[in-house]
Amino acid sequence: MPEAENHAPNDFIRDIIDEDLKTNKHDGRVATRFPPEPNGYIHIGHAKSVCLNFGLARQYGGTCNLRLDDTDPAGESMEYVESIIRDVHWLGFDWGKGLYYASGYFERLYQFAVELIKKSDAYVCSLTPEEIREYRGSFTEPGRESPYRNRSVEENLDLFARMRAGEFADGSQVLRAKIDMAAPNVVMRDPVIYRIKRETHYRTGDEWVIYPMYDFAHCLSDALERITHSICTLEFENNRPLYDWIVERLIPAERPKQIEFARLNVSYTVLSKRRLIELVQNNHVHGWDDPRMPTVSGMRRRGYTPEAVRNFCAAIGVAKNDNLVDAALLEHCVRDDLNERAPRAMCVLRPLKVVIDNYPESQMEDFDCANHPQKPHMGTRKIPFSKVLYIERDDFMEDPPKKYNRLGPGREVRLRNAYVVKYQSMEKDEKTGEIRQINCTYDPATRNAPPADGRKVQGVIHWISAAHAVPAEVRLYERLFTVEDPGSMENCLEYLNPNSLTVLTTCYVEQSLKNPAPGSQYQFERLGYFCADEKDTKDGRPVFNRVVSLRDSWTKVAARG
Ligand code: ATP
Ligand code: MG
Repeated sequence: MPEAENHAPNDFIRDIIDEDLKTNKHDGRVATRFPPEPNGYIHIGHAKSVCLNFGLARQYGGTCNLRLDDTDPAGESMEYVESIIRDVHWLGFDWGKGLYYASGYFERLYQFAVELIKKSDAYVCSLTPEEIREYRGSFTEPGRESPYRNRSVEENLDLFARMRAGEFADGSQVLRAKIDMAAPNVVMRDPVIYRIKRETHYRTGDEWVIYPMYDFAHCLSDALERITHSICTLEFENNRPLYDWIVERLIPAERPKQIEFARLNVSYTVLSKRRLIELVQNNHVHGWDDPRMPTVSGMRRRGYTPEAVRNFCAAIGVAKNDNLVDAALLEHCVRDDLNERAPRAMCVLRPLKVVIDNYPESQMEDFDCANHPQKPHMGTRKIPFSKVLYIERDDFMEDPPKKYNRLGPGREVRLRNAYVVKYQSMEKDEKTGEIRQINCTYDPATRNAPPADGRKVQGVIHWISAAHAVPAEVRLYERLFTVEDPGSMENCLEYLNPNSLTVLTTCYVEQSLKNPAPGSQYQFERLGYFCADEKDTKDGRPVFNRVVSLRDSWTKVAARG
C-alpha cells in the first residue's frame, strides 16, 4: 500500500462522482471494478485503468473489484489470470473479497437471456454471419429486419435451449436483442448477445457451447456486482446506449453509470494485446516479462517501481481525447523515484586495466562511502582500493578533445571517493592496437582532499579494485521501436529497434554487490539506475538490467513545452 497517497487532482470522472454523491445517487456508494480479459499480460495502459479504478475506491472510501472478463474462451488462460493478480498487487492495490470472474455468471447470464426472450426483447436469428452484417446496414444506410425477427417466444425459447444443448453448428444461430434496425447508432441494430462457439473454456471446460457477447455480459456483471461507476475506454462510447438498454430491462434497480475516458498510448511502444502477443510468440522479445516490454511484469523486471508507475498515471491524468504520451515522462517518473531510494554503487561496463605505479603492491585500503549522498540514514559501505584497478574504457582517450573531462596523456582525474591519479603511460596490443593497460601515479595527499597546490583536475571517474571486482553481466536497453507511434502502423514490426538490447558479459561491480537481492535497484555512479535481474541473478554472478539512464530528457521537453 502506498504510504501517503496523493489523490489525483479532480478530473471529469471525479466531478461526476462528486455530483452523484451530492445527490445521493447510489446511496452514497462508490463501487468500481477493473475488468481485464485474461488473454494477455496487463501493460502500462491497463495500469492507468487500475490506478484510476482502485484510486477512486480508495479516495472515496469505496470498493473496487478485480473482475476477470472471461467470456471469450479463445486465448484466455489461467497463466494470464495469475499474472494479472500478481501485477495488480504489485501496483499496490487490493480487492479484498472482490475477485470475480464473468464466467462465474454464465448460468445467470443464460437465465437473463431467457428472460429477455420471454419479454419479446430477444430472438434467435438463423442468418449467416455475413448476412447479419449485410442486413445491419451502415452509418449511412438503415438496417433491414431479419426474417427471423418475429419468431414466437415459444419458438425462441426452444431454439435457445437447443443452442445451449449443442444441437446447432457454430455460427449457424445467434441470439439477438430486439431493439431497432433503423437506429442511427449501428450498435443498437439488434446486436448479437449470444453465439455458438465450441471452444474449451479455461474455467468452465466444455460445459458451454454458447457464450455471451461482451456487451451482454459486461453490463450485467457490473449490475450484479452493484458497480456504481463503470469506467471504460472511449471505444465503448457507442455501446453505452446498449449497456443501459440491457440493464434497464434486466436489473433496473442497479444502473451502473458507464463513463468513458481516453486510452493511454506511450511513444515508441505498442499497447494492443494483439501486437504484444505477436512480439512474444514470434520471439521478437524474450517473453511477456522482457524488460523492453510495456507490460507491468516487464517494467517490474526492468526495475521500475510501483510508486513510479503510479506517479506517472497520476501525472498524465484522465481526459476525453486520445493522446500519445512521451515515453520520456515515464522514464522521468522512474528516475525521480529511484533517485530517492536507490543506493549508489560502482560498476565498470567496459573495463580497462589501470596500474598505479607508486602504490605499494601489497597495500589495500578501505574507503568508507556513503550509500546515498543526501541520505545518511542509508548508511555507508567499504570500498577497497589497491594497486590494480579497472576504469571505464570510455574514460580514457589517447587523443582527447579539449573538453574531455576524463583521463588522457598528460591529464589528471579524481577516482571517485579515492585519490587523484595522473597518467604516465599505456600498453597496446601489438596486433590489434587496442589499449590493454594504463599506468598512472597517485597523489597520496588527495584522499578526500583537493590537491594541496590548488591545481585543477580534469574530472571524476569511477573505478573498481581488480582484486575485489565481481564479474557481472549487464543488459542495456533502448526503445523497442524506432518510430514514435508504432501502434498506428500496420507494419510496425519493420520498425523494431535492432539495438533495443545490448548484453555486456565482461562487466565488474564492486564487491558489495556480489549477492544483490533479486529485483533490488542501485544507481551505478555515472551510468544510470540498474536492477538485479529477478530471474537470472545467481549466487555470486549478478545480472543487472539498466532501468534508465541518468540523463533526463523529460525536464527539457517539459521546459520547452
Ligand atoms: P486490447 O484492446 O489491446 O485487446 P483491451 O482494452 O481489450 O486491450 P482489456 O483486458 O479488455 O484489454 O482491458 C481491461 C481494462 O483496461 C478495460 O477497462 C480497458 O478499457 C482498460 N484498458 C486497456 N487498455 C488501456 C489503455 N491503453 N489505456 C487505458 N485503459 C486501458
Ligand atoms: Mg477489451
